[in-house]
Amino acid sequence: MAANEVSNLKADVLIVGAGVIGLACAYELSRAGAKVVVIDKFEPGYGCSYGNAGWITPCFAMPLPMPGMLLKSFKWLLDPESPLYIKPELNPTLISWLLSFMASMTQKKMLSSVDALTQISVQSLKLYQELAAKTDKSFSFEQKGLLMVAQSHDGLKYARQEMELVSRNGIPGKLMMEDETRAFEPSLTKRIKGSVFFSQEAHAEPLQVTQTLAHEAQKLGAVILPKTEVIDFQLSPKGIASARTTRGIFEADQFVLATGAWSHHLGQTLKLKIPVLGGKGYAIITDPLEVNPQRPMMLVEKKVAVTPRNGTLRLAGTLELVNQDETFTTRRVEAIVRGAREFMNVPETIRYHEIWRGLRPCTPDGVPVIGRTARYPNLLLATGHQMLGLQSATGTGKLIADLALGKTPDIDPKPFRADRF
Ligand SMILES: Cc1cc2nc3c(=O)[nH]c(=O)nc-3n(C[C@H](O)[C@H](O)[C@H](O)COP(=O)(O)OP(=O)(O)OC[C@H]3O[C@@H](n4cnc5c(N)ncnc54)[C@H](O)[C@@H]3O)c2cc1C
Repeated sequence: MAANEVSNLKADVLIVGAGVIGLACAYELSRAGAKVVVIDKFEPGYGCSYGNAGWITPCFAMPLPMPGMLLKSFKWLLDPESPLYIKPELNPTLISWLLSFMASMTQKKMLSSVDALTQISVQSLKLYQELAAKTDKSFSFEQKGLLMVAQSHDGLKYARQEMELVSRNGIPGKLMMEDETRAFEPSLTKRIKGSVFFSQEAHAEPLQVTQTLAHEAQKLGAVILPKTEVIDFQLSPKGIASARTTRGIFEADQFVLATGAWSHHLGQTLKLKIPVLGGKGYAIITDPLEVNPQRPMMLVEKKVAVTPRNGTLRLAGTLELVNQDETFTTRRVEAIVRGAREFMNVPETIRYHEIWRGLRPCTPDGVPVIGRTARYPNLLLATGHQMLGLQSATGTGKLIADLALGKTPDIDPKPFRADRF
């Protein structure tokens, strides 16, 4: 579409970013009757939302900063294959992010974050169930549960603690020892101590999720424009008047920034401090195993996520706090496959169909930023969803729609406030 056609597209709400978050906002706003335009600098769904593990698992409603993590992170810094890596840099943004991250590693903060993340994840799962029923599971939605498998005493203790933590919010889990675990999941052929099974968890194909949300939003009148990059914004006494893009000026009554790991950069054009740092992770799609897993699994000690797909297998993992560095570190990619090999029979010659990396948008307190900004009354933020963006997207979309349209939200919006930093 040519730039001079843009003036016809004045929206009630302009959403910047067509990842799973922006598209879930578009869907919910359109359902509520708003005229929505979504713009993205790439094709919709090809940012971090493209190749993630596909888990919709409220049992993993954990913030990134956890008590006791500081010591562990220092240990991991010395290990080039560790699941967490922080790129050392004398950069004021990174230093201030890390200080805020460390300040969030308290028991009290962790418990309140778990409560907020569980709430939005449970609501999201419900909305995904409705969407799956409506679209005949067009996004490969399956509810087969999630198995957390441990090889060591400490690993099993960790899985058990997680089970106890989320059971406070009504998420059931079942502890199984070695024999029961093996009978339950025959792909686990190597040394196992035990597992915890969360029966209500779901998974889906991430690109199909964004495509379904886009399609459903478009059916309700939303306009989605790819290859349209926001450069900056023009202001008015009301807040933001328009977004200046590579394809013209877009006006709207309200604006939603759903720009994932790019949010800090775009926020700077508005003199907003959005403390979102890119946390790189990798996913590898391989041939299926001879005995392919029957359900998604978290391999606790290696922090590797295993997701069975139709005819292939996805292995995902690592979190490198690197901000905008999108380079591949082959050693870390291989460490994911080696980690899986310690639990299952993964042949040395296994064929890779795809290697992908994505930048998770990470806030220092591990809770997304969802809400209206104090500085610009007509600007809402929907970003910083760290490792949980897919599983909390539909709840985020609903919350943004409620806030934008002046309705009372279904969940408490306070923990997600945009002006808390
Ligand atoms: C290896 C890995 C595994 C993961 N597994 C899971 C999982 O199993 N479950 C789960 O819930 N989460 C998972 N995640 C996290 C999840 O992928 C993210 O939280 C989620 O994709 C974030 O979505 P988003 O829409 O905020 O960001 P993105 O998908 O990155 O979308 C942001 C969009 O904004 C656009 N944009 C940026 N700047 C501009 C601009 N100036 N103008 C126009 N457009 C712009 C970008 O092009 C992009 O499309 C995983 C992540 C990784 C890396």
